[in-house]
Amino acid sequence: MQEISFQCSPRQAKDDDFISSKIKSLLNLNTEDKIYFEWHKRSIDARKKNVKINCKFLVSTDHPIEKKSLTEFKAPQSNKCVHIIGMGPAGMFAALYALKCGFKPIIYERGKNVRDRRRDLAKLNKEGIVNTESNYCFGEGGAGTYSDGKLYTRSKKRGDVREILNLLVQFGANKDILVDAHPHIGTNKLPQIISLINEEIISCGGEIHFNSKLTDLNISEGIIKDIIINDQITLPISNLILATGHSARDIYHLLDAKGISLTAKSFALGVRVEHTQDFIDQAQYGQLNDEFLPPAAYKLATQVDEKGVYSFCMCPGGIIAPCATGNNEVVTNGWSPSKRNNPYSNSGIVVSVNPEDLGHSGSPFTCLNFQKEIEQKAWELAGKNQKVPAQCLLDFIQNKKSTEFPRSSYQPGIESIKMDDLFPSFICDRLRKGFIEFDKKIPGFITNDAVLHAPESRTSSPILIPRDKEKYHHIDVLNLYPCAEGAGYAGGIVSAAIDGMNCMLNISKL
Ligand SMILES: Cc1cc2nc3c(=O)[nH]c(=O)nc-3n(C[C@H](O)[C@H](O)[C@H](O)COP(=O)(O)OP(=O)(O)OC[C@H]3O[C@@H](n4cnc5c(N)ncnc54)[C@H](O)[C@@H]3O)c2cc1C
Repeated sequence: MQEISFQCSPRQAKDDDFISSKIKSLLNLNTEDKIYFEWHKRSIDARKKNVKINCKFLVSTDHPIEKKSLTEFKAPQSNKCVHIIGMGPAGMFAALYALKCGFKPIIYERGKNVRDRRRDLAKLNKEGIVNTESNYCFGEGGAGTYSDGKLYTRSKKRGDVREILNLLVQFGANKDILVDAHPHIGTNKLPQIISLINEEIISCGGEIHFNSKLTDLNISEGIIKDIIINDQITLPISNLILATGHSARDIYHLLDAKGISLTAKSFALGVRVEHTQDFIDQAQYGQLNDEFLPPAAYKLATQVDEKGVYSFCMCPGGIIAPCATGNNEVVTNGWSPSKRNNPYSNSGIVVSVNPEDLGHSGSPFTCLNFQKEIEQKAWELAGKNQKVPAQCLLDFIQNKKSTEFPRSSYQPGIESIKMDDLFPSFICDRLRKGFIEFDKKIPGFITNDAVLHAPESRTSSPILIPRDKEKYHHIDVLNLYPCAEGAGYAGGIVSAAIDGMNCMLNISKL
């Protein structure tokens, strides 16, 4: 077996006959020779606007390429079990790995299953009513369920990205995610994959309890003895994986009240900007609607006053979603379907915020309190419903209130405000300078045809739950495993899944 790489046009990359004859010519084979090939890596090179596809194939001249065997999950043979709080990517992959390691996983998830959760999202979008236990962040699959399902991560060093992608394919994701440089699944496909993971966990003897919130815990001599669910059920535990995500503020307060140490952590905050997808396609590809190319994306980053300003979670062909988890706050994020075929493109444009920017007093809640204040102010400024504060981008640069807006994908509606009335000046100043830099990279980026929606505030956890670097247990509480995004160790679906897997692997070594 060998690897063969070449560049071709987007049309040629979809044409198996072209690919076969190109490989044969590169290997000096005759046209009638038999070859077996499989995509290995695929990326888009749009630097010179004459868009090319970078292709890498695995090729064999004598036998078909072996398929990866499926990972088998089995019911545990012993009575070892692990309790997991939260069924986001971290909780789900911790549970799958518990089965692999011979443990029975028992998951408690405050939200509902994917089907019932969908009804609460409809209410949120149509009526602006937030169900505080079932929303874009809480429920089966966690915050990743109704997302774009982007699967790229910068945390390759932390674990086996390929293993996570292989498992997602095993549970129904398209095999393209194993090949594409920037793989994604899409909101319409994720719930089905998550349901299949759920079925696998149950069929191997695991337990999943929905509408089951961790509300208290009893701790003695550095060990959690038992946990309390819904203020009612007390359960003795041996090891606890805490994978509650970064929107579960009550969990941080619970840990703090129990004397479990926490630290303030830098996070990022800003706006979600929406352009038309046509504009982004034209800017990135130099052309519109090529049927052989996916909707274009961008990634932008710059330094302003030695602080990062960057794009975050870009959703081509996407929709801006109301992601509040409480009734008196507004939070934005974005999603897109697998085809990314909406006429809009959105992205968070955020500024790094350090505890020192906020006059840090040493409290672990310095950044969280600031994040909460901005979300609540947004809610007040936009009319105390789920409407989102909005300003056209050029108007923001010129500090003018917008009087006319293009259409926005944000379903609950927009309310014209000045971002300067929402954010402190250090955020607005850095955002302005950042946008001016981005406009140099994508000319025309600053326009009143683009709308800022605010705030983009749930980018990463504003709190770190400190843990042992090697063994992953909390530095003071030996059977507590602070896991993934909510604990400050992951950002995104894949890195959260990897962290869930790693927490479980560490427990299995005890
Ligand atoms: C709209 C949207 C789009 C996104 N798009 C992408 C994307 O394209 N790519 C990407 O990589 N990332 C994306 N993200 C971020 C990604 O979803 C998160 O990084 C990831 O889900 C974090 O995984 P986690 O398991 O650490 O936590 P979460 O997914 O947040 O899961 C935590 C779970 O814990 C539960 N929980 C909380 N408190 C309790 C409690 N007290 N008791 C019981 N259960 C509790 C919650 O209900 C939740 O289900 C998106 C997020 C959103 C909201």
